[in-house]
Amino acid sequence: MLLFTPGPTPVPQNVRNAMADETMHHRTPEFEAIFEKTRKHLFNLLQTDEVVMLSSSGTGAMEAAVINLCHNTLLNVNSGKFGERFGKIASSNGLGSVEIKNEWDTPVSVESIIEAIKVNSDIDAIAVQVSESAGGLRHPVEELAKAVKEINPNIMIIADGITAVGVEKIDVTNIDCLIAGSQKALMLPPGLSILGLNNNAIEKIGAGKGYYLNLASEIKSQRKNTTAYTAATTLIIGLLEIFDSIESSGGLEKLYDETALRAKAVKASLEAIGLHVYPETPAPSMTTIDDKDASKIRNMLKEDFSVNVAGGQDHLKGKIFRINQMGLIPVYEMVWVVNSVELVLSKLDRRKYDGTASKVFNEIFFKVGA
Ligand SMILES: *Cc1c(COP(=O)(O)O)cnc(C)c1O
Repeated sequence: MLLFTPGPTPVPQNVRNAMADETMHHRTPEFEAIFEKTRKHLFNLLQTDEVVMLSSSGTGAMEAAVINLCHNTLLNVNSGKFGERFGKIASSNGLGSVEIKNEWDTPVSVESIIEAIKVNSDIDAIAVQVSESAGGLRHPVEELAKAVKEINPNIMIIADGITAVGVEKIDVTNIDCLIAGSQKALMLPPGLSILGLNNNAIEKIGAGKGYYLNLASEIKSQRKNTTAYTAATTLIIGLLEIFDSIESSGGLEKLYDETALRAKAVKASLEAIGLHVYPETPAPSMTTIDDKDASKIRNMLKEDFSVNVAGGQDHLKGKIFRINQMGLIPVYEMVWVVNSVELVLSKLDRRKYDGTASKVFNEIFFKVGA
């Protein structure tokens, strides 16, 4: 079965092997050396002044960012389940919460953000997804961060890049905190989350908030290549192996370029067979198709063609399907996925099969024919 869900993503064989060794004690020079190397790679990936690794799923890093960087009221962008989660995190920690809500295909407008911070001077942090995975939507994070900083540089910008870090280059000039997670673009099992922090954020964190998620105590330890509590040793060993894999396959820039090209080719190939891409501004992390037969298509992909794609949640349950584009994906697998979608449409009598999807994909990806 090909796993093509936008998280979790498949873990490469060499990474699984690297994680299969005997458990290493986390307070040893051997592990600290691995930690230090992994940290160096993370600085290069995130381009921030500091990086912190937490043993938690992505939501743990979201909560750590909110409690440490928001001391009054959080403005969260809700164009999907993950954006909504930021508001819930703020409320459940006793923080003020203001939300800008849109349909899941609609990116937040910079104007609406500016309007909100002008109306409410209690807002001291803004949380937004770079790529909102609920609908595969790209928000204009860099633009909104720039606009906010021009008005009030003290407002913290928290960017959830869990399906964006490792997918595309993100300009962190005006972003204070950028979040990543292990089981999406970083191709690892779940359980490790990462925060990139800029100096403004570190200043605001001060002595930190919370206990397990206190970022001040983590920064202090991690600068010494250790962690405040037991590190997720196996996943960190795996992450180092992931960075080696990315490097040996041509480096980060090549990965970004190839992911963008793959996204373009998948989108064009599915549109060429009459399907509709759901979000107004698609993120390169995944292709989301809205379709009346979404459930049937998804089930047939799995049963008949061994392709596992994700469905929708909440009001989009049964109405969309989402195809992963994150990670080091063998191109022959991606071609099989778009070809399978076309075969399913022919089985549903929606369209006579003629190989258009794979043809369009190949023309774009390999720059041939046309
Ligand atoms: C997966 C995901 C998360 C975190 O989810 P966890 O289940 O806690 O790992 C957060 N934000 C986005 C955009 C995601 O795709």
